[in-house]
Amino acid sequence: MALQETLDVYKDTLLKYFYDLKSVVNGRFQEVEPCHLIALTCASTLASVWIYQFLFQRESLKSRCKKQFFRILRRLPFIGTKIQSELNKALDEMSERMVGENVGIRYVKTLPPTGLKQEQVLEKLKEYSALSHVSWKTGKVSGTVYNGDDKLTQLLVKVYGEFAWSNPLHPDIFPGVRKMEAEVVRMTCSLFHGGPDACGTVTSGGTESILMACKAYRDYAYERGIKHPEIVAPVSVHAAFDKAAHYFGMKIVHVPLDSKTMQVDVKAMKRAISSNTAMLVCSAPQFPHGAIDPIEEVAKLALRYKVPFHVDACLGGFLIVFMEKAGFPLKPFDFRVKGVTSISADTHKYGYAPKGSSVILYSSKEYRHFQFFVAPDWPGGIYASPVIAGSRPGGIIAACWACMMHIGEDGYIEATKNIIETARFIQLELRKIKDVFIFGNPEVSVIAVGSKSFDIYHLSNALTEKGWNLNTLQFPPSFHICLTVLHTKPGVAQQFVKDVQESVAVIMQNPGAKTTGVGAIYGMAQAIPDRTMVTEISQAFLDCLYTTDSSLSNKQVNGASGHH
Ligand SMILES: *Cc1c(COP(=O)(O)O)cnc(C)c1O
Repeated sequence: MALQETLDVYKDTLLKYFYDLKSVVNGRFQEVEPCHLIALTCASTLASVWIYQFLFQRESLKSRCKKQFFRILRRLPFIGTKIQSELNKALDEMSERMVGENVGIRYVKTLPPTGLKQEQVLEKLKEYSALSHVSWKTGKVSGTVYNGDDKLTQLLVKVYGEFAWSNPLHPDIFPGVRKMEAEVVRMTCSLFHGGPDACGTVTSGGTESILMACKAYRDYAYERGIKHPEIVAPVSVHAAFDKAAHYFGMKIVHVPLDSKTMQVDVKAMKRAISSNTAMLVCSAPQFPHGAIDPIEEVAKLALRYKVPFHVDACLGGFLIVFMEKAGFPLKPFDFRVKGVTSISADTHKYGYAPKGSSVILYSSKEYRHFQFFVAPDWPGGIYASPVIAGSRPGGIIAACWACMMHIGEDGYIEATKNIIETARFIQLELRKIKDVFIFGNPEVSVIAVGSKSFDIYHLSNALTEKGWNLNTLQFPPSFHICLTVLHTKPGVAQQFVKDVQESVAVIMQNPGAKTTGVGAIYGMAQAIPDRTMVTEISQAFLDCLYTTDSSLSNKQVNGASGHH
C-alpha cells in the first residue's frame, strides 16, 4: 500500500512538472509565428541527422580526424615540404630497389607481328625462369611453395592438360569438372566433420573464400535488419577480412590479442560485439605468429549472441585436420564445435594443390545461399553464379582433385607429421638461444621470432644474406618462418637453426647497430604515424609491379605528386 502511495506522489509531481514545462514553453513561443516554428523544427531535425551521420560512419571519427590532421599537416609550408621530400626519398629508394634488378632487361610491349613457333616460345620461357634468384627448391623460403615435389608436379600438369579448356560455368558440357568440384568440397567437409547439411564451394584462393564468407554473412545480416554489418575479428586475422570489409561496405572491428599467447582476447571480443555484429572470426592458426585462437570460447559467444562464426583455417586447414592422427592432438576447431558456422581451408597451401584453389565450407545450406548470386532477368539467360568469378579454370579444380586423390589420408598424415616434427625441433632449438624469443606457443607450422636485446630486423636481414627468404612482421616487430614439406628434407632445419645461432652471435657483438635494407624500411614504416603515407608508398610499389620500362624511375611512376 505504501508503495502505491509513493508511486502516486511521484506521478503527480511528474505530471505537475510536465504541465509547468508545457506552459513555460508555450509562453515563450507565444510571440513566434507558426511558420517560424516549422522552419526551426525542420532545421534542427536536419541538423541532428547531419550530426548523426557525421559522427557514425563506417570509418571511425577518430580515424577520420587523424587523417584530416595529417592532410592539413602536409599542406603546411615547412613541415609539409619536409614530409613530402622524405616521402619522395622513400619512393625513389623503393623504385630503385625494384628497377635496379631490371637494368638491361628488355620488355615485350606489343604482340609479335607474326606468332613465334612453339620451340621459340619455349626458348624464350627459359629467360623468364632464369630471372629468379631465390632457391625455393632447397627449402630456403618461408611458406610460398608448400610441396614442390617433381613427381607431383608432373601429375598436376598432366591433369591440368586434360582439363585445360574446361569451365565449371558449363556443367552440361563439363560434367566431370562439376563432379570433381563437388567431391573436393565433400572430402573437405568430411575432414572438418561437417554434418549432413554441411556444404561449400571451391574458390580461387583463401582471399576469395574469406570474401565469400563475409559477403554471405553481410547479406544474412541485412536479412535480419542490420543496416551496417560489422566483422568482429582479432587484429591477427588475415588482411583479406579488411579487404572484404572494404569491398562489401562493412566495418571491421579489430580485437586485441593476449600479448603472451598471441591468441585473441575473448573478453575484449565479447565487448566488441554489438547489435551490428554480422560475424565473429577466429584463425586456426593465424598467419603472423601461428597461434590458434580460442575457438571453443568464441563459439560460446557466437551461440549466446546468435551471430555466425567463421574459422579461418586457410593457412593450416590441411595440417590441423591430420594432426591428431599424426600424433599431435589439438583442441577442437571445426564443425564439432557448436557455433562454428563456416570454415575456409586452402587446398593450394597444405592441400598441395596448384595455386588458385581453396574451399569455403558452411555448416548449413542456409548460409551458402547468401553467398550465391543470381541475375534472373539478364537477357543473356538466367545467370546463377556461386562465387566471385564467372568462368573458372576447370583445369585447376581437376588438378586439385587429382592432388587430394593421389596424396590421400596417409600421405597427408605423413606430411603433417614431418612438418610438425620439424616445427617442434626448430622451436625447441630457438628457445635455447638467449636474446631471441618465440611468440606464444605455436602449435602448427609457423614460428615467429622477436628480440628484447636488439632490433629483430637485424636478424631477418642477416638470414636474408644467408639465402633465407622469411616473412617480415610488424606491430610488434618480428619475422616468421612458415614450414612446408620442403623444410622437412634432411639438414634444412638444422641449417636454419645454425644460421640463426651464428647471426645472433654476430649481432650481439654490436646489438645497437643501425638496421639497413628491408628491415630499415619496415622499422621506418611502423614509425610513420600518418598511415596514408605508407599506403602511398605501397601503391607506388604496386605500380612498379606493372612496369615494362627498365629505366623507369618513380618520377614517372608517381607523376601525380609532381615532385623534384
Ligand atoms: C594465406 C592465408 C589466407 C588466404 O590467402 P590467399 O593468398 O588468398 O590464399 C587467409 N588466411 C590466412 C591465415 C592465411 O595464411
